[in-house]
Amino acid sequence: MKIVMIGTGYVGLVSGICFAEMGHEVVCVDKDASKINALNSGQVPIYEPGLEDLLARNMTAGRLYFTTDLGAAAPGAEAAFIAVGTPERKEDGAADLSFVYAAARELSRVMDEGTVVVTKSTVPVGTNRQVARIVMGVRGADRVDVASNPEFLRESVAISDFMKPDRVVVGTETARARDLMAEIYQPLSRQGFPVITTDLESAEIIKYAANAFLATKITFINEIARLCEKVGADVERVSEGMGLDTRIGKKFLKAGPGYGGSCFPKDTSALARTAQDAGAPMALVESVIEANIRRKADMVEKITALLDGDLSGKRIAVLGVTFKPETDDMREAPSLAILPPLTAAGAELVIVDPQGRREGLRAFPGADWADDAYEAAADGDLVILLTEWDDFRNLDLERLAQVMKEPHFADFRNVYDATAARSAGFTAYASVGHPDFKI
Ligand code: NAD
Repeated sequence: MKIVMIGTGYVGLVSGICFAEMGHEVVCVDKDASKINALNSGQVPIYEPGLEDLLARNMTAGRLYFTTDLGAAAPGAEAAFIAVGTPERKEDGAADLSFVYAAARELSRVMDEGTVVVTKSTVPVGTNRQVARIVMGVRGADRVDVASNPEFLRESVAISDFMKPDRVVVGTETARARDLMAEIYQPLSRQGFPVITTDLESAEIIKYAANAFLATKITFINEIARLCEKVGADVERVSEGMGLDTRIGKKFLKAGPGYGGSCFPKDTSALARTAQDAGAPMALVESVIEANIRRKADMVEKITALLDGDLSGKRIAVLGVTFKPETDDMREAPSLAILPPLTAAGAELVIVDPQGRREGLRAFPGADWADDAYEAAADGDLVILLTEWDDFRNLDLERLAQVMKEPHFADFRNVYDATAARSAGFTAYASVGHPDFKI
């Protein structure tokens, strides 16, 4: 089956490559010529483990192509997926659907009659019907087959999430769209991975409900961590005790500096907006959003307290700035909210991140960059562990403390603990939801 994938970002590229791996013929289209040129020469423009090998294999097999020319790509395709961005609209928190609607318009001018138009981007309820109206309007047609197929992959483990999904969600309202989607995903359904079929609206809501629920779970444990700090409890033990309850589960119960990334912040915000507009406001989701903003401000306060309220001229080593390990994605990373107030208060940053440098150079102008944690910490007043890359999990804490001017440690991923930090020679250690110390 021939598939067109519009948008070769984190989702479109992984989806396109994985569909080719399943045996489909895939043409990926992007407006960004530099991405397409890189892909055509076998280079993956993002950091996603395993993707480069899969790209090479499927290009060599003659099942995977890249172009900027949708007009050349669309003919003969049975399905066209829209996987473009849906960023947050700053003025009202809603999802900005302009890229989706522009892609739908461009597609409708060049696609064959009968091509099923599939929205893979995360879009608010009602968007797929609007896509159908756009396509019918441009083509002067009185019908089109559309499908909502939200994506649940996680960056850093995107290939296995796509090839071995917990579930695939497909919303349709015509038998043709339903049958075609079943055929596309047959390589997965044959292996027993569940494909859930729903109406368009339910599929759209499933994606937002899932992300908002996970964001709520993280925020819940972060609030518990805050309480633990006030009363001398240990959030790691609390998480363990909660998570072993099978009704709750262990995942997403890791306290930290607040959620970030390309999805949770914008999707919680868009869901709250949709709910408001629909006359069914979601107070819970709204307070999750607020608590998550407050969480990052709490981290700034912790850092300020560790340095006795004076950041001026302080040299701070930052370990990790991407929103999580094993990705180069910096969108809404906690570092973007936590670090600028430190530099505004006069601190000097030295950053180390295995993949964050390209974006980080833009995001943190004036910061220095180091190649490893010890170089970053040299002569420093504080180390902040912000993203738990493997490189930062087995640090020689004694060596780290020794190279510093003032051995202070803010461990916002709870990789270490106060006892280890103290015996390594740190004079102050703060974590999240743990007992801290300061000598
Ligand atoms: P992205 O910004 O990485 O990629 C979007 C791509 O679309 C860009 O390369 C852009 O150049 C291209 N594009 C925009 N308009 C185009 C057009 N008209 N024609 C061709 N190309 C066009 O975005 P992403 O992270 O891949 O996210 C895409 C969608 O998937 C979003 O709705 C997002 O919420 C959703 N999603 C993302 C993730 C994730 O982890 N990143 C996970 C699940 C769902």
